[in-house]
Amino acid sequence: MKKLLGVLLCSVLVIGLLAGCGGGEKKPAKQFVNIATGGTAGVYYPLGGAIAEILNKAIPGMNATAQTTGASVANINMLKDKKIELGMVQNDTAYYAFNGAEMFKDKKVDGIRGVSTLYNETVQIVVMENSSIKSINDLRGKKVAVGAIGSGTEANARQILEVYGLTYNDLSPQYLSYAEASNGLKDGNVDAAFLTAGYPTAAVQDLAFQKKVNLLSFDADKANALIKKYPFYAKQTVKANTYPGQTADVQTVAVKAMLVVPESMSADLVYEITKAIYANTDRLKAAHKLGEGITKETALEGMPIPLHPGAEKYFKENGKK
Ligand code: GLU
Repeated sequence: MKKLLGVLLCSVLVIGLLAGCGGGEKKPAKQFVNIATGGTAGVYYPLGGAIAEILNKAIPGMNATAQTTGASVANINMLKDKKIELGMVQNDTAYYAFNGAEMFKDKKVDGIRGVSTLYNETVQIVVMENSSIKSINDLRGKKVAVGAIGSGTEANARQILEVYGLTYNDLSPQYLSYAEASNGLKDGNVDAAFLTAGYPTAAVQDLAFQKKVNLLSFDADKANALIKKYPFYAKQTVKANTYPGQTADVQTVAVKAMLVVPESMSADLVYEITKAIYANTDRLKAAHKLGEGITKETALEGMPIPLHPGAEKYFKENGKK
């Protein structure tokens, strides 16, 4: 009994000492990382949620959350305004921001740095199967969902219409999220919708399950003209049967999705983030089929802006660059 009391007393003393002297494991400082994605019916949102989960599990003290936004342009502006720490954006939009071009003309945001590129984002121009719109030319005079305000999609819509000799004055542009655009198509309130997103895109898939849709193909000469003027586009085929009822291949163009962080983020944190993501790509695969193509081998393809030193260190260690 005496012995037991002694042991107990000792334990209490030791615990007390540890607590008093702060000799226990130091708790890591809380680290908040807000991830800017896009609308709920796109691909950024589920993948951004998966990235938040990965970071929370892998990095001690991490408190990461993904939020819906208007997408690429909005995400870069939120990053500039220090409202978010990690943004999912198109590589063409990142380039325009960094170089003060297009929608960032006179509003350059050169405090962004690249972490990695992720997957192809395909321009999909969706109409209902029974629509009279059979080609991009036919969009003249129609109600066209061109993407949310602040999206990269919206800029793509403008550039594509331009090579077809059309401007927003020639049609009625609707600034809608993918979910709103998809509902609008179903209800007949919208005649066509532009999406720049990895495919299959939830908004198109959900719609195609309910009613037959068509994706418009690019004319080869127009695709070439677009790529010549805006070199971030590359040709892309959406294979038949990607969506329910899609009988033929669709010829279109694609850009790339990527991750950006502020230049001011610590190299250690960016390194940890990069490492965590590429060590847990299985979780990305579970969130969206496109996760299959997210690998460190392809992570620097199409990188349009300087890499953050933390990401650079990770890819150097892993045999890149
Ligand atoms: N790339 C799109 C944009 O910036 C968003 C795509 C998505 O939400 O998956 O407009």
